[in-house]
Amino acid sequence: MSNDCTICLKKVYVTEKIEANGRRYHKTCFKCSEKGCRLTIANFISHDGHLFCQKHVPKLQAIIRPAQSRSRSIKQQQRTHHRYQNEEDDNDI
Ligand SMILES: [Zn+2]
Ligand SMILES: [Zn+2]
Repeated sequence: MSNDCTICLKKVYVTEKIEANGRRYHKTCFKCSEKGCRLTIANFISHDGHLFCQKHVPKLQAIIRPAQSRSRSIKQQQRTHHRYQNEEDDNDI
């Protein structure tokens, strides 16, 4: 397991660590990647390795890429939403 920040990929020390969705972030990196809105563990949205607030998260149509939507039905995408996002994060790195 890595101790690196999911956003900036630098080492995260305990004093500046936020853990969410099984991933680590710097407190300073744990913000909306669109406008830098303040996020909490309760209201953040993780998408494609980036964090968004409820207001700035891309619409579902934008989240699902055409190449991947062909092999998965909409129902499956909704059911495995969180796992799908994690896979996206890994591919991103
Ligand atoms: Zn960071
Ligand atoms: Zn925002």
